[in-house]
Amino acid sequence: MSPDSNNAPVTNPDFTIDESCAISLDQNDPLAKFRQQFYQPGESKGDSKIYFAGNSLGLQPMGVRDEISQELDDWAELGVDAHFDGHNPWFSYHELLRDSGARLVGAQPSEVVMMNSLTVNLHLMMASFYRPTKSRFKILMDYPAFPSDVYAIKSQLVHHGYNPSEALIEIRPRDGEHTLRTEDIVKQIERDGQQISLVLLAGVNYFTGQFYDMQAITQAGKKQGCMVGWDLAHAAGNVEMKLHDWDVDFACWCNYKYINSGPGALAGCFVHEKHGNNLGLPRLAGWWGNDPKKRFQMHLLPEFTPQAGADGWQISNPPIFAAAPLKASLALFDQATISALRKKSLTLTGYLQFLIDDISPERFEVITPRQPEARGCQLSILVHRRPEALLQSLKDGGVVCDFRQPNVIRVAPTPLYNSYHEVWRFAQVLKMH
Ligand SMILES: *Cc1c(COP(=O)(O)O)cnc(C)c1O
Repeated sequence: MSPDSNNAPVTNPDFTIDESCAISLDQNDPLAKFRQQFYQPGESKGDSKIYFAGNSLGLQPMGVRDEISQELDDWAELGVDAHFDGHNPWFSYHELLRDSGARLVGAQPSEVVMMNSLTVNLHLMMASFYRPTKSRFKILMDYPAFPSDVYAIKSQLVHHGYNPSEALIEIRPRDGEHTLRTEDIVKQIERDGQQISLVLLAGVNYFTGQFYDMQAITQAGKKQGCMVGWDLAHAAGNVEMKLHDWDVDFACWCNYKYINSGPGALAGCFVHEKHGNNLGLPRLAGWWGNDPKKRFQMHLLPEFTPQAGADGWQISNPPIFAAAPLKASLALFDQATISALRKKSLTLTGYLQFLIDDISPERFEVITPRQPEARGCQLSILVHRRPEALLQSLKDGGVVCDFRQPNVIRVAPTPLYNSYHEVWRFAQVLKMH
């Protein structure tokens, strides 16, 4: 999976550059019907946007309002009794999200819990799985990483008395390359492995869109005796994973990007079964991680007895109004299935790449790996000429996407609610630039 072959053109006999191709791809798309399950920005004013920002905030599924209303009604009607007598009892609300969440990341149900938000979960996981010793205290991460991860990791190092300039290893692409080579990551782990306590990379890099070879990297880390965790903010709901089989120690993700559960939605957390069953593992505790049978004995049982599984890392009772949208959203993933979504995604993003290839490389350069297995749905495009002017053209063309200074746009056609025709229209805006 080296980026050497980055110049091979996309060849797919189904693709041509004319509009009729997009129309026919949409007509033959078995997942096209899911688009109607989402509110499309601008649609109510008759000015539908081309929404390619699902990597930042996914669109609202239409079922969300009913799920929230249900909880508002139960609160109004039952008050505190809704914890046990509600339509979806709040005491065990998180359990409604577990199986679907586990399917999305390739986990056993007991390995997944929805709780808190992403960065908070990273901290909680590091509290248990970053346990530095004199000889093994470093953390390895990828560069460029999302700033919140950098802050969280550096603050953990400082919290344990280390200087990030000595204890943090940021692995960077080779000179002249935009993405990391698996072989370089593995080599680095082999070289420094005995000093590395924790390998913590993004499954899909937020900036380049690169989908790392999680299995190979996890294996390399385990071989050196490191803990291996993953930030799946841009991977969950986007690519297929097998966290359990790959022997990943822990993983965290947010549910408001590809999983469409709304701003600040309850986040996801994976803890491998072998750790979940280890009730002696140190952790930052709270009553919701306690054995539920003993939870309400309160001051009569002041000793914390963790629940087995990922549930044992819960701290507080979950925000039900931030969990309800997730219930509606996961139901759509269960219907569509992540494997069918990934299949469409490969074609949808492949089609986008094909259309960009048709425009001069002096104007646009895709920095995301070309190999389909090394990326999710996002393409990150370097704009060589007048990036600000392009931004305006995209806005005028109704495209919602993301711009990173100084000259990278990130577009994420998602298989749940984007169409081939939207990709084609987006490419026309690029072509005119
Ligand atoms: C989106 C994102 C975050 C955001 O963190 P929150 O705690 O949800 O605010 C953190 N890390 C990565 C890699 C992200 O992509």
